[in-house]
Amino acid sequence: MPNTKYIFFTGGVVSSLGKGIAAASLGVLLKNQGYNVTIQKFDPYLNLDPGTMSPYQHGEVFVTDDGCETDLDLGHYERFIDKSLSRSNNITSGMIYWDVLSKERRGDYLGATVQIVPHITNEIKARITQTLDADPADIVITEIGGTVGDIESLPFIEAIRQFQYDNENDCVHVHLTLVPYLESSGEFKTKPTQHSTKELRAIGIQPDIILCRSHMPIDKEIKRKVAMFCDVKADSVIAAHNAKSIYDVPLILEQQGMDRVVCRKLGLPESKSDLDDWKRFVQNMHDPTNLSINIAIVGKYTNLSDCYLSVVESLKHAAANANCNVDIKWVNSEDLRSDTVASQLNDVDGVLIPGGFGERGIKGKVQAARFARENNIPYLGLCLGMQVAVIDFAQHVCGLTDAMSIEFDPATKHPVIHLMDTQEGVVNKGGTMRLGQYPCNVEPNTKLHGLYQSSLIQERHRHRYEFNNAYRDQFSERGLVFSGVCPDNNLVEVVELADHPFFLACQYHPEFKSRPLKPHPLFYGFVEAAKAFTGSQQALFQTLG
Ligand code: GLN
Repeated sequence: MPNTKYIFFTGGVVSSLGKGIAAASLGVLLKNQGYNVTIQKFDPYLNLDPGTMSPYQHGEVFVTDDGCETDLDLGHYERFIDKSLSRSNNITSGMIYWDVLSKERRGDYLGATVQIVPHITNEIKARITQTLDADPADIVITEIGGTVGDIESLPFIEAIRQFQYDNENDCVHVHLTLVPYLESSGEFKTKPTQHSTKELRAIGIQPDIILCRSHMPIDKEIKRKVAMFCDVKADSVIAAHNAKSIYDVPLILEQQGMDRVVCRKLGLPESKSDLDDWKRFVQNMHDPTNLSINIAIVGKYTNLSDCYLSVVESLKHAAANANCNVDIKWVNSEDLRSDTVASQLNDVDGVLIPGGFGERGIKGKVQAARFARENNIPYLGLCLGMQVAVIDFAQHVCGLTDAMSIEFDPATKHPVIHLMDTQEGVVNKGGTMRLGQYPCNVEPNTKLHGLYQSSLIQERHRHRYEFNNAYRDQFSERGLVFSGVCPDNNLVEVVELADHPFFLACQYHPEFKSRPLKPHPLFYGFVEAAKAFTGSQQALFQTLG
């Protein structure tokens, strides 16, 4: 293998064009060319990580095996290139400044004036190659968050300019821009792309490839114009028009030979790519031969599916592999009360309660878990979704009417969910939860064991509270099965009900480990149970005539 190769992605014109999906899609193609690829994201904000940001601002917080709270694009990267990444794959300006200032205090720069150039830019450059310590990849793809022209991303752009200067033959720069379509004149406009490229060139970077986001496919003439005015080769203008799903994007880029252009520019040998499995997955997703299931996701951020991004993607992976279509019904937990829950959930084939924090909407979530439990509707609870399932069981099966989590009622008489020992005395909010991968023993002869086919699993976590073991015997006697327990500290990781078609809830986040071609066993089991449920409902209607 020749030198490590580096691909940089910048964005222009507007934000939210899908740089993360574009970078991940190129990763899929290069992996299929036989290369070991890693992808990292540089986020220009000052937070050390997105862990303390509101999901309204930032969408889902993704968690890596090594316990880093990261941008949701890391989830796309992992799902697309089918690889677990680590904390060196998501770097923020905050981390860079923190490290530079710590070095300054230590005296590492004695005698020097510490400046953005070279100290901050050197630190950024070091982070590009440091990803190789954890994962000696052939190709590092680096996405720079934000849009060219933003004040805050300037140090990153300057750092990659220098990096490209130092590694001239080993770098490719992809610039993603918008090519808008004007309804009034019925034509695409290339001027914003020209301006954005000009902006990039003013900072010293000539892009090698222009990726054009557009509403509809752009024609040859538009590509020619972009190539001409942005000074790139004709085959280096690639169209990235709106697709049916994010998983179609690698196929769209492959059709235009983006991987071949990249390999040629990097001097990398090409081998024939084989995307057959990926194509089959996409085909199944769009054209399932089986029935459709309707899944309720009960949460408090119902108008923002980005907040539960990995959950939604995991359902899609499971459904495509189970050859069925999945429709998601977003249910606002604040609308659920004992008198409204039936009308909201009587048309669904499964109820999923994802993770969450804070008291808002908790009572409605307990009602949803209860409704699923009492009506034999498949239930999957994730993190907070396990905690509310436990609260329902305590209140309505064990008769502990005021049972609660101390997160929501610190004075509750029955703290069935309480603070983990390791969290006592923790005052700082950032990065202090139980984070990342931990082992879990799986009890034999349980649903959990049937799904994983393994007695020891590893899953990712992000929580402060846990099941209170003082209630374990009482709950067991009433039929709650503790099917997964962490061997390190006896912490309950999974509960299930034996006398229910599918009622399973875990303290961890399985959604972070689902991949398109390897759906997570819990999501797969849940989707299969929902299929069986909808089948039994249809049979019931037929019998009733
Ligand atoms: N708020 C709960 C806790 O901290 C659940 C966390 C979550 O759902 N990620 O334990």
